[in-house]
Amino acid sequence: MTTLRFFAIQESFNRNPNVIKETKRRSELFGSNVFNETIMRQSLTKQAYHSVLNSINKGKKIDRSIADQIAYAMKDWALSKGATHYTHWFQPLTGATAEKHDAFFETTQEGSAIEKFGGGQLVQQEPDASSFPSGGIRNTFEARGYTAWDPTSPAFIYGTTLCIPTVFVAYTGEALDYKTPLLRALQSIDQAAVGVARYFDKKVRKVNASLGWEQEYFLIDDALATSRPDITLTGRTLFGHSAAKGQQLDDHYFGTIPNRAMAFMRDLEIECMLLGIPVKTRHNEVAPNQFEVAPIFEEANLSVDHNSLLMDIMEKIAGRHNFKVLLHEKPFAGVNGSGKHNNWSLSTDTGVNLLSPGTTPMSNLQFLTFFINTIKAVHDYEELLRASIASASNDHRLGANEAPPAIISVFIGQQLSHTLQELEGVTKGKLSPQEKTQLKLNVIGKIPEILLDNTDRNRTSPFAFTGNKFEFRAVGSSANCANPMTVLNSIVAKQLIDFKKEVDLLINKKDLKKDEAIFNVLREYIKQSKNILFEGNGYSEEWQKEAKKRGLSNNKTAPEALKARISKKAIDMFESLEVMNKTEIEARFEIEIEEYTLRIQIESRVLGDVARNHIIPTAVKYQNILIENVKGLKAIYDKDFKIYAKEQLELIQDISKRIESINSGVTKMINERKKANSLTDTVKKAESYCSNVKPYLEEIRIHCDKLELMIDDELWPLTKYRELLFTK
Ligand code: ADP
Ligand code: MG
Repeated sequence: MTTLRFFAIQESFNRNPNVIKETKRRSELFGSNVFNETIMRQSLTKQAYHSVLNSINKGKKIDRSIADQIAYAMKDWALSKGATHYTHWFQPLTGATAEKHDAFFETTQEGSAIEKFGGGQLVQQEPDASSFPSGGIRNTFEARGYTAWDPTSPAFIYGTTLCIPTVFVAYTGEALDYKTPLLRALQSIDQAAVGVARYFDKKVRKVNASLGWEQEYFLIDDALATSRPDITLTGRTLFGHSAAKGQQLDDHYFGTIPNRAMAFMRDLEIECMLLGIPVKTRHNEVAPNQFEVAPIFEEANLSVDHNSLLMDIMEKIAGRHNFKVLLHEKPFAGVNGSGKHNNWSLSTDTGVNLLSPGTTPMSNLQFLTFFINTIKAVHDYEELLRASIASASNDHRLGANEAPPAIISVFIGQQLSHTLQELEGVTKGKLSPQEKTQLKLNVIGKIPEILLDNTDRNRTSPFAFTGNKFEFRAVGSSANCANPMTVLNSIVAKQLIDFKKEVDLLINKKDLKKDEAIFNVLREYIKQSKNILFEGNGYSEEWQKEAKKRGLSNNKTAPEALKARISKKAIDMFESLEVMNKTEIEARFEIEIEEYTLRIQIESRVLGDVARNHIIPTAVKYQNILIENVKGLKAIYDKDFKIYAKEQLELIQDISKRIESINSGVTKMINERKKANSLTDTVKKAESYCSNVKPYLEEIRIHCDKLELMIDDELWPLTKYRELLFTK
């Protein structure tokens, strides 16, 4: 046995779990590698400390002399923790994170050396990051991208590097990253939501959007993963027949976590504690070797950073345990894929969750206001929301009977559906005292404070209300949450601004009382947006038909879905909020559409190579063995040989047919690629990859997977699903 596959299996069997010893309580470890508010209070002058707080809470600029002070304190703290380098850590539009390390170390004129780091290095850097995708915003020869400190996300130390979370913008001011638009969207929703929250409580000064993600992933032995060129190059398997046992017994979900995986998780959790990522839950997921990690929710920008950081360190820590982490949305056919639910809510600086029902009719009216405005926003921008989670890899999940459908709808549960129906029936204009009492007592007074256990959890909904938050479930496991969070917070901000205008108009022009005006506007919103509400089975055929009737979009592929990003409606919305301008929006669209093409192109190349260089030669080898066997049988049985060689002869024929289908399939696929590559229009190219190249991935695979079932196991070159998925 000489193939990579058998070495890999042997290798994986020799591995024992690296047991992690925990010597400290996690609460003691928490945040010890973070330059957080406590450390700042201890190490900064009062003036500098307040300047940072003002910048965090009110977006005020930090002036240069203060920046120097902060930088010195940061440097001293980092050096005391053993750091030698610093980096501006940012999230370019590639989806990964980027960093370029510089040493603190500098030489002096006298020939000695010191550790140096000042305000200049902290606040602004030119990383010469000319090869990050910019969608044409920045001419590469200009190479002018700046990173600038984002004080709302604290600096941290990873390994021996001080990492400073930063935004990445072009010389001309346009955002080249995911973080900048997110920060602008969060500022918008803060202002818009404060405006509305003050109808109910004048003390509200700030509203924070919160995010709690749930990261799903697969853990695969790295020797086994490395033995598969498709996993190595594309993050998923392009071949592989289902194992005899998959997830049908439901024996993995919430089951005992295998020892090796547990060792990895504990190591990961400790690292998260040090970095201040408040991970709390870990469990097995539905598919074999699939797991989930989820933190306590945080302010959205910080939470997005923490998720990006987590995805980074997961891969590093997996290496220590001889694992490979697969964050791809669909690494294996036939078993569940991975998502990343984004739990989202809004909360005030007075400690109120605006999406949580309260104890009084007034607080419930506040809840309903934010609740209904969110539904209206999702209704009006469902296509844009769908676009925010579109990618080649997420296409495998959406609409594939295991994850939310590609149709965006909102699930709110029976009880709230009923409340909305009642509100819809409220009289237009002024309300009689009786009506007001009836509303207070029987409608909004009836919303129980704790809906959590009452909301029937409909797992097939892409956007579900779960008691005190909305859960956006269609987000892919490998996605940067900044993208969906920018869209969600922007559309709700836009909606809240419109709402306030309408309510104010009714108060001022029609002489309605505040709550009457609010009821009136909400009633109209319920009417206008009830099409987006759906309580049934999102996976069903009927829903597809019903959604079509309702006029909801059903964009099944990324190239189709992404177009909503550059619709006039989307551009107007983003521009009105100053979250992104047209150039920035179009640049992102270009990058995403190009990325789609590149992903399918890579998958298609890998598939072609493996099919021709690994699978066909193996099939030929096995066929030759069969041919020898038939020849031998003929020698023994002469004319009667067909009685004994019948099955072998059929196998030989079948293998020939499969080889033919695979080889001609690859040729056709290459031709389609050539045709697509000759298109200059990036959208047409992506569409061509989607409809003309992608289908071959499935078609060719079927024949390869059939061969896997026929050919001698000892000859088969690719590590099989049962080995990848069931190695503990
Ligand atoms: P599951 O969806 O797996 O059943 P939950 O519904 O309990 O689990 O979701 C847990 C996630 O929701 C956690 O990440 C948690 O931090 C997050 N979460 C809870 N409350 C909020 C909130 N107000 N805002 C944002 N996220 C929240
Ligand atoms: Mg969830």
